[in-house]
Amino acid sequence: MAIKNIITEPNKILRQKSLPVSIVGKEEQKLMNDMLETMYDANGIGLAAIQIGVPKRIIVMDLSKNEEKKSPMYFVNPIITNKITETSTYEEGCLSVPNFFAEVDRPKKCDVEYLDYNGKKKILNANGLLATCIQHEMDHLEGILFIDYLSKLKKTMVIKKLSKQKNRPDRIIV
Ligand code: ZN
Repeated sequence: MAIKNIITEPNKILRQKSLPVSIVGKEEQKLMNDMLETMYDANGIGLAAIQIGVPKRIIVMDLSKNEEKKSPMYFVNPIITNKITETSTYEEGCLSVPNFFAEVDRPKKCDVEYLDYNGKKKILNANGLLATCIQHEMDHLEGILFIDYLSKLKKTMVIKKLSKQKNRPDRIIV
């Protein structure tokens, strides 16, 4: 396994639409292992392949708390087959939008059809945090970031701030 570099906004790669995976083979499993290690290292609970620059419809998540046993989830080619109109609100953050959080409303429950780590077809009935997290990650596959749900003004401010953070030279402590 290897820790990969997480791409941050603004970056055109994050706006790319990811492509379906035809088979879940060794290469895809290696990618999922790397994604999971990268996500754990960054203290995230979800990561889409495009966030490490791979435009494949693959997501990893782990919603277990630190002290609990790890319980990784893998989603290949996820599709939402059903969602309710009732929404829930969470304060969301994203490994690709560092140091920024905002409240986002999303359907409270959804059903997701996907292939697992072994390429087996599965259905997940998600609700609460799990539903929000999978929808956030699935947005990444479409090139959508959670800041896209904010007002235009607020979004522009966030992107400006992120650009400034990027342009700053590396800090060295000697
Ligand atoms: Zn994200």
